[in-house]
Amino acid sequence: MKEYKDYQLQGNNTFGIPARCDRFIEYAGEEDLKEMYKQKVFAGQWMSLGCGANLLFCGDYHGTIIHSVAQSIEKREETAQNILVKADAGIILDNFIEYSVSNGWGGMENLSAIPCSVGAAPVQNVGAYGAEAKDVVERVHVFDTKEGTFRSFSKEECTFGYRDSFFKANPQYVVVSVEFRLTKAPSWELRLDYGNLRSALPSDFSPEDALALRMIREAVRQIRHDKLPDPAEIGSAGSFFKNPVVDRTVVDKILHDYPKMPFYEMPNGCKIPAGWLIEQTGWKGKKSGNVGVYEKQALVLVNLGQATGKEVWELAQHITLSVKEKFGVEIYPEVIKIPQ
Ligand SMILES: Cc1cc2nc3c(=O)[nH]c(=O)nc-3n(C[C@H](O)[C@H](O)[C@H](O)COP(=O)(O)OP(=O)(O)OC[C@H]3O[C@@H](n4cnc5c(N)ncnc54)[C@H](O)[C@@H]3O)c2cc1C
Repeated sequence: MKEYKDYQLQGNNTFGIPARCDRFIEYAGEEDLKEMYKQKVFAGQWMSLGCGANLLFCGDYHGTIIHSVAQSIEKREETAQNILVKADAGIILDNFIEYSVSNGWGGMENLSAIPCSVGAAPVQNVGAYGAEAKDVVERVHVFDTKEGTFRSFSKEECTFGYRDSFFKANPQYVVVSVEFRLTKAPSWELRLDYGNLRSALPSDFSPEDALALRMIREAVRQIRHDKLPDPAEIGSAGSFFKNPVVDRTVVDKILHDYPKMPFYEMPNGCKIPAGWLIEQTGWKGKKSGNVGVYEKQALVLVNLGQATGKEVWELAQHITLSVKEKFGVEIYPEVIKIPQ
């Protein structure tokens, strides 16, 4: 366990925003969590941090930030069709996907290149290209910071939703490790029909090819590289806003003036792509001081170099207002503002 006082977080959030926290603790496993519990870390203000890819620091954090650096991977069960693998929270999700693809284990290749830790993957139920963490998560092992005990959650108990899970509303649980059920050839269930994935695959692609997982991974990486900013070069948190779900009456009203508006019927209403709404308000590619809207994707707010979290937040509020004024639709951030 390593502890730092008055720690600079600029390198721990993909926006690259400078902010400090009173105390930063890197922990390696269960013994460290028990030790932190003994030291009453969880009795005060604290939070878990993975790669900081869904956070916006709008000021310093007056409390303790804990960050897993645990890196073990363990095979739990293996049959001819699938394998159950347990991975520690501190592993970079994309490194785990690379390891899985190299071993011929399918199920996570579509999630390639999402900036994320294994620990945050079930919390956020990360998803991309027709796949979500919930499709492969079998169990989540956690530390209950109120009780000081370890327990595990079945997939059902995680109550996964769109970028949502039980853990999101219950931050008392620290994800320690995650068990993923991955498939072996020929039981792979390849998902190729989302967006332009199929057309990005090599022309001789065959689902039976021993290298099919590798080809999908490379295609996803290439598509993402072409349309999303690389946090190593341009700070962002990916999609800043959630896609709003509205009443059919609202959709009909907008369709009257914008007959080409895309929307998707949902059980609870209609989902409109927030990126489309923002684009229509003219924000795409706009810059305002140190912040801007990415020129290739209106959902992504970017740090143009020296931004503060407050500047990003203000830009987000201007965009929210523009969308509300033009369409009467409220959009909400997916990114978590710290402090809240
Ligand atoms: C360029 C870019 C592209 C992106 N593309 C996508 C995408 O395609 N799909 C997608 O779903 N997301 C995407 N995102 C958003 C981001 O990758 C996800 O939200 C991801 O899950 C964040 O993981 P993290 O480790 O950075 O979590 P953090 O941002 O550090 O934390 C997120 C939340 O999880 C909690 N948390 C973190 N670790 C733990 C733990 N061990 N135990 C309990 N709680 C924990 C935190 O307290 C916080 O509430 C993108 C982000 C960027 C920057």
